Amino acid sequence: MLQEFDGAARILNLEPGIWKILTHPKRQITVSCPIQMDNGEIEVFTGYRVQYNITLGPAKGGIRYHPGVTLDEVTALAAWMTWKCAVAHIPFGGGKGGVICDPTKMSRREIEALTRRYIAEIVDAIGPEKDVPAPDVNTDAQIMAWVMDTYSMHVGHTSTAVVTGKPIEMGGSLGRREATGRGVMIAARESAKHLGLNIKGATVAVQGFGNVGSISAELLASQVGATIVAVTDWKGGVYNPKGLDIPKLLDYVKQHKTVDGFAGAEPLAHTDLFTLDVDILIPAALENQITIDNAPKIKAKVIVEGANGPTTPDAHKYLHEHGVFVVPDILANSSGVTTSYFEWVQDRYGYFWTEKEVNERLEAKMCEAFNAVLQTSLKYRVDMRTAAYIVAISRVATVTRMRGMYA
Ligand code: NAD
Repeated sequence: MLQEFDGAARILNLEPGIWKILTHPKRQITVSCPIQMDNGEIEVFTGYRVQYNITLGPAKGGIRYHPGVTLDEVTALAAWMTWKCAVAHIPFGGGKGGVICDPTKMSRREIEALTRRYIAEIVDAIGPEKDVPAPDVNTDAQIMAWVMDTYSMHVGHTSTAVVTGKPIEMGGSLGRREATGRGVMIAARESAKHLGLNIKGATVAVQGFGNVGSISAELLASQVGATIVAVTDWKGGVYNPKGLDIPKLLDYVKQHKTVDGFAGAEPLAHTDLFTLDVDILIPAALENQITIDNAPKIKAKVIVEGANGPTTPDAHKYLHEHGVFVVPDILANSSGVTTSYFEWVQDRYGYFWTEKEVNERLEAKMCEAFNAVLQTSLKYRVDMRTAAYIVAISRVATVTRMRGMYA
């Protein structure tokens, strides 16, 4: 994060004082959460909430439950959220939370107890005006419902806007589930437009067929007529140079939990996905997938980073130098947080939009963000990732200067 920040800050000639402010987390909270487990014993779980920067508005960012959570990781993720919200041009700062636990070894009751205690421990720090959590690794809509309920019990009234990613019935937004994939589709379409590539019939390979990957693939095929030729997931991959039938593949995955074995396509090894002769590559699975080892084999003209951090810095440098147009994660997958912002707006307003309205507003926000980054990249003659950081840092820096020093 700091490496990406420094590169952009140097180009911006950011003054040392603002530089210092923007490279320090505003607030890091560590809490201990004692829980009575199902076997009657008491366990104590460590939880964190980091509000990296709240200059533009309340902190925004998910809560993850994982044995490998550390304060350093949560802080870096909170910083990324700061830049992602600023690029998306929504009035939020960046936050992130995490609890060191292994939810795969816990009962639903234990997870509920842990969620409620963790929220009770940080209750003074969160709220619609302060910090608005959301789902992340191993947390879902039900957990967000418990977050909302616990917070509401503490403040004495129902507060839907304290958290996003809630079930639709209790203040969630229509279109949220599809939002990140929809943004990836828009980013791919706008990239093609900029490069003079016809998106209709353009060939696409997608790594990962979960929320982001499957919806990006489905929308690229159904909305703009791209041809999805290859998909991989945790188990294997499928390839059909004439194009995969995405609705059929979605049905197959519903039953088999993997794309592996899908009829009407050849099997594809994980490592072969990146070497395919396609126009657009969408990494939508895990971090650090495109490395300096496989980057030279990539033939795609455009990479749209659906996942967070799928490209290592040296691979990114190589790709940029070899003319590959990379849409960075903080822009490409920002539609998820933009729709979380829409959820928060609707909750505060108490008036809910149709799915069509959500999608239209998302289209406008995503195009605005894409164009701001593209124009910055052309102005400074830098890659799209550096440009996204320049846009984000200058937005936060401008408001920091305007607000001045409180002392
Ligand atoms: P998900 O769990 O729904 O899907 C992940 C997919 O990756 C699954 O299909 C899984 O089988 C596949 N996968 C796992 N290991 C793989 C491997 N070695 N090779 C190929 N595929 C593999 O997760 P998601 O919500 O789609 O998130 C994917 C990425 O996008 C993550 O980096 C996440 O942080 C990022 N992201 C998600 C959202 C969102 O709204 N869901 C928003 C922003 C960023």
